[in-house]
Amino acid sequence: MAIQTQNPVNGEIIKKFEAHTDAQVDEAIKASLSAHKILRNWSFEDRAKAMQKAGDILEKEAEDFGKIMTLEMGKTFKSAVAEAKKCAWVCRHYAERAEGYLADESVESGASKSYRKYLPIGPVLAVMPWNYPFWQVMRFAAPALMAGNTGLLKHASNVPQCALAIEDIFERAGFPNGAFKTLLISGSKVERILRDDRVRAATLTGSEPAGASVASICGEEIKPTVLELGGSDPFIIMPSADIQKAVSVGTTARTQNNGQSCIAAKRFLVHADIYDDVKAKFIKAFEALKIGDPMAEETDIGPLVNKDGRDTISKQVEKAIKDGAKRVTGAEPIDGKGYYFKPGIIEDIPKSSDAYHEEIFGPVMLLYKVKNLDEAIEIANESPFGLGSSVWTTDKAEQDKAITRIEAGATFINSMTSSDPRLPFGGIKRSGYGRELSAEGIHAFCNVKTVSIA
Ligand code: NAP
Repeated sequence: MAIQTQNPVNGEIIKKFEAHTDAQVDEAIKASLSAHKILRNWSFEDRAKAMQKAGDILEKEAEDFGKIMTLEMGKTFKSAVAEAKKCAWVCRHYAERAEGYLADESVESGASKSYRKYLPIGPVLAVMPWNYPFWQVMRFAAPALMAGNTGLLKHASNVPQCALAIEDIFERAGFPNGAFKTLLISGSKVERILRDDRVRAATLTGSEPAGASVASICGEEIKPTVLELGGSDPFIIMPSADIQKAVSVGTTARTQNNGQSCIAAKRFLVHADIYDDVKAKFIKAFEALKIGDPMAEETDIGPLVNKDGRDTISKQVEKAIKDGAKRVTGAEPIDGKGYYFKPGIIEDIPKSSDAYHEEIFGPVMLLYKVKNLDEAIEIANESPFGLGSSVWTTDKAEQDKAITRIEAGATFINSMTSSDPRLPFGGIKRSGYGRELSAEGIHAFCNVKTVSIA
């Protein structure tokens, strides 16, 4: 895949980038290892000072970063600015909390003193997707650097300006030279880096094939991995819920980031007693969404990332309809310049249809009528994925049942699934393994050393 900035609004190629040579990659790995040897000796206070500075830069220049994000992948400018500010939050969170997360933990044993000690492991390769081009990276980078690790970023080929801007943030924040390096390379160059002894671990956020490839190479090399892959999150609405709120939040949950979010609610499982009412309200909400220039304040939905992304979703919808699903509204490409796609709803998706099982990475709601919570949970769990889930009910017994039985990395009750630096984030089943954010996110790439003093 060419490394370039292509504006999804009109398909125009804005800038092409020369891929880094193997020699340049080797230099970057060397610099990353040297920086790790410096950073691991820094006090938490010094690391925190630099990380707070990174937070300040993200906050102050949120609009500049927002413009690059919107230009490269089409998300609305207002959501891009919010993304930069959320990155400042994760920097501040780890600046303030890393020392506590990594404090020695005393354990009673037969020894006079024994404890867990968290130590950094070295350079970590991060393979990242374009959909949240700053957030996905920063939620790895902030805990990694605060732990004393260093980061090598292989970002998606369509967001090189975002990737370079992130490297620049850490440089300006005062981290040692090489602590965070961007590698402008294609996916095919990743294996060589994973097999390099100086690189100690890898994290990948993206698709299943990419995750499986990175994990299998790291398996051969005996290196730890964290995988954050796709999702087809259920959004269950029961009769006791605040229906108006569920519809309003559900619309956002499905269409946020132009529908291209791993934790977007994708399958809506609605109780039969309220199905017609909920469906009518969703139709109204979807048809009211303003599609247009992502830079405009009033725009809710910008273009999809590129032609491939739009073609894939269009084909998935058409195939589902051929298989027997019904189009309720929208869910079709918009003619003209750019990669616009009308948000839409389909229902009655047969179990035999691919759409029942796969992820639809665009603003298409799959709507199901269920007779009770048991059936909703059964359908929710039929997915090969297990990332997030959202359940709308005020009944305590139903809440408890959903929390215990839904197979997912997260269950949000009466709100949408979202990521938060204070809470662990990750999936099960084909959504991946390992956790980011919170204490788990910083422990992920640490050596949990057992210390025992006789
Ligand atoms: P993708 O094609 O897998 O790309 C993700 C990254 O992997 C890119 O940097 C890509 O580089 C690289 N890559 C692709 N194939 C590779 C390979 N064989 N070896 C090494 N690297 C490889 O994913 P995407 O389509 O851009 O992103 C959408 C997917 O990410 C969706 O499934 C979404 O649900 C998932 N996602 C998950 C989370 C989560 O937290 N669980 C968050 C966001 C997105 P190139 O760009 O150069 O191909």
